[in-house]
Amino acid sequence: MTFPPLNSPALDTGLIWNHSFADLGEDFFVPLQPTPLPAPYWVGRSPEVAEQLGLGAAALQSDDWLKALTGNRPLAGGKSLASVYSGHQFGVWAGQLGDGRAILLGEANGLEIQLKGAGLTPFSRMGDGRAVLRSSIREFLCSEAMHALHVPTTRALCVTGSDAPVRRETLETSAVVTRVAPSFIRFGHFEHFCHHGQPEQLKTLADYVIDRFYPQCRQDPRWGGNAYAAFLWEVTQRTAEMVALWQSVGFCHGVMNTDNMSILGLTIDYGPFQFLDAYDPGHVCNHSDNQGRYAFYKQPNVAYWNLFCLGQALLPLIEKQELAISALETFKTAYPEALATRMAAKLGHTQASAQTNALVEALLPLLATDKVDMSIFWRRLSHWARHADLQDASVRDLFLQREAADAWLLQFSELLPHYPRALQADLMLKTNPKYVLRNHLGEMAIQSAKSKDYSKLNQLLAVLQTPFDEHPDQESWAGFPPDWASSIEISCSS
Ligand code: AMP
Ligand code: MG
Repeated sequence: MTFPPLNSPALDTGLIWNHSFADLGEDFFVPLQPTPLPAPYWVGRSPEVAEQLGLGAAALQSDDWLKALTGNRPLAGGKSLASVYSGHQFGVWAGQLGDGRAILLGEANGLEIQLKGAGLTPFSRMGDGRAVLRSSIREFLCSEAMHALHVPTTRALCVTGSDAPVRRETLETSAVVTRVAPSFIRFGHFEHFCHHGQPEQLKTLADYVIDRFYPQCRQDPRWGGNAYAAFLWEVTQRTAEMVALWQSVGFCHGVMNTDNMSILGLTIDYGPFQFLDAYDPGHVCNHSDNQGRYAFYKQPNVAYWNLFCLGQALLPLIEKQELAISALETFKTAYPEALATRMAAKLGHTQASAQTNALVEALLPLLATDKVDMSIFWRRLSHWARHADLQDASVRDLFLQREAADAWLLQFSELLPHYPRALQADLMLKTNPKYVLRNHLGEMAIQSAKSKDYSKLNQLLAVLQTPFDEHPDQESWAGFPPDWASSIEISCSS
């Protein structure tokens, strides 16, 4: 395997590399270097991710790293590459896709470091290999916010920008997000080798992912020694858990194509995502999604559909269709169980029960009919739970149907009459965030960043990284959305 020559002196990083994906060989990727961008500057940084990589926060102050993380300078010992994958987009087989603008720099400390927006690759198709500042800031903020909400996700080390123009609907400027994850392998990687009739590569890839991330599959007695069926089951469980978490925090992904589904059950590829303001199960956050395929309430079913695509791709390895189907069908219990547990925690209960399920069932139609702000409702309920006093109207006032709201609050308060209210409230305050990345908040940070003022972005990042804390001086990030929030249009264009 030959990696292209370095075009500028490599940065000595002290990172200890272990290029396990690159070691799979050239059927899986094309080695290449990022394309530099002129005069880069820092936009957003996450010292916590730097620590995780073993870099030390000082790297995020260094000019050398600024260049390296914009793709202007190679990392000594890195092996940069673009991987090949395929996928189903909006329910239709789309053929080969691949890393069209993401370039993996290498793997250190068990984490892959990938630059998104770092220039053309052989998989760029009609694209320019670039990402715009707006969507890069959204991805950066959201990955860090999701992590703080305990939702499995890829992380983001930083965003760097450049004034180099990029054409989308209008002329914008370029940016690069440095993403970090144990692996960026997607369902689409498996679909690729299945659909292209490459069973050996399919097996190599599956064995790699199993040995590295799911070694327990080799000993799982439930699947008659079939490690690939056990693997499909594991991915099914992780995906069910991930989507249950999405639904519980009101996260709408927007483009749940199979190439955007992580084999590790991580939230990946933040594009036209949105956190719900008013609770609206039918909400479609992606303006390019004309059919509403990825509406909020459809996400669990879409995840299940996507898992069937993965199952189909793994069939040459699993061999027995009935095994694949039984692994997949566990989604039908794993998802509702995971969701029930998450919703019970939102109600301050450590376990789901028939009563917590009934409370949720009674609540959701009320929230939907009255278009109640989801995050504000749960946060106010968490505070209300401390005394559960019906004279306190802070929760009831969020509803138009006040009597129905009161009746529900009474049921809620009567469910744990002997349980210390303070404990229940504490659990709720650790489960129901005060701060979520609403569209209009991201938009405010983006507008300032466009004029190179990053103070809002930094403030927002700080509250999103500690979303369960009160931050009394940061209330403005926790309020109702303004009227203009509903006019923000987010599409696939990024
Ligand atoms: P996405 O909808 O962002 O998941 O992207 C779907 C496919 O299009 C992937 O193969 C991406 O790498 C590719 N892609 C998206 N935007 C660009 C771009 N600006 N340049 C090159 N490839 C892109
Ligand atoms: Mg994608």
